[in-house]
Amino acid sequence: MIYKQFQDVKLSALGFGCMRLPVKNGVYADIDEEAAAEMIDFAMKSGVNYYDTAWGYHDGMSEIVMGKLLKKYPRNSFYLASKFPGYDLGNMGKTEEIFEKQLVKCGVEYFDFYLFHNVCEMNIDAYLDDAKYKTFDFLIKQKRNGRIKHLGFSAHGDLNVMKRFLAEYGEYMEFGQLQINYLDWEFQDARKKAELLKEHNIPVWVMEPLRGGKLASLAKEYEETLKKLRPNEGTPAWAFRFLQTLPDVVVTLSGMSDMAQVKDNIKTFEKAEPLNKTEMQTLLDIAERMTGKSKLPCTACRYCTSHCPKGLSIPELISLYNEHRFTGGGFIAPMALSSYEKDKLPSACVGCRSCEKVCPQGIKISEMMKDFTLRLKEE
Ligand code: SF4
Ligand code: SF4
Repeated sequence: MIYKQFQDVKLSALGFGCMRLPVKNGVYADIDEEAAAEMIDFAMKSGVNYYDTAWGYHDGMSEIVMGKLLKKYPRNSFYLASKFPGYDLGNMGKTEEIFEKQLVKCGVEYFDFYLFHNVCEMNIDAYLDDAKYKTFDFLIKQKRNGRIKHLGFSAHGDLNVMKRFLAEYGEYMEFGQLQINYLDWEFQDARKKAELLKEHNIPVWVMEPLRGGKLASLAKEYEETLKKLRPNEGTPAWAFRFLQTLPDVVVTLSGMSDMAQVKDNIKTFEKAEPLNKTEMQTLLDIAERMTGKSKLPCTACRYCTSHCPKGLSIPELISLYNEHRFTGGGFIAPMALSSYEKDKLPSACVGCRSCEKVCPQGIKISEMMKDFTLRLKEE
């Protein structure tokens, strides 16, 4: 395992993201604890020492299960990260209440790493309004009393949002977690965001290295191009090699869902094999060609779902929409939708756009629902 020095600790360059743990019967909250335990045990044995959970992952169950699974290991043998769920404005002002619950859920006395979760357009005013909500005030006190060892933030907002956040709190932020992958390097300004952190001397943590699994496999033509350069490298490994090439990246989080992914990722992080100039250019060229395509870039982060007054399963519907549009119709989407209640279909969308305000990918969800409804009617 590659380790990176961060202040006085050595962190595994691969961090275990705990938002896509294996589940039973496709139910997001029903984590398959047995399967997850095997994965965590393997990761621990292989030297992964960073585990990243959050209040909302697996509808609140990730913190509980991770606390349980890590319990058998000495507290100083792993680093546990969690986050204040400011992606939901209803949580603003409840920092203390939530933080105390998180410690109990995880069964720990302190968090090694704690983040302002998802600094973005929707919550930046509230995050900055400390006179009212006291989020920073509370968290910095926890940092000082040792219940938070390292304070940082994750951000899906645009560059201006990040600049506003850092202008206020930058000097206190010890790390910043960004969505960085070769697809978003230019497409979603990841390069500029990483440069902004560098200006503030803040080390980079990476989330969504595979863009929610989208970079785990590529179109055949792209995979063939990459194979010619590195015949023995798997497609997901290319995404990690890209990140190993960026000098300011400390931890790369990967939300692993099965043992095969755990093993594959750990193998990739046995040794850093950064890309050379030709490889880097080839990868960025592929990214440019891919982003020119029309697929909606949902990462299944699920920030939107709690904001939908109709309770629609937005990421699942987007996934079906992508499939349906890409195939030009077909039976898969109608077949899947036949198991939905009528008031959970795309046609139930009332176009309120609450979901769009929190979507880190800027997806025009209401338009998608309308288009999907029309496409389904036309068949
Ligand atoms: S626009 Fe549609 S999908 Fe989005 S929150 Fe409103 S009802 Fe739900
Ligand atoms: S639509 Fe946006 S907010 Fe909702 S799951 Fe997809 S990426 Fe996340």
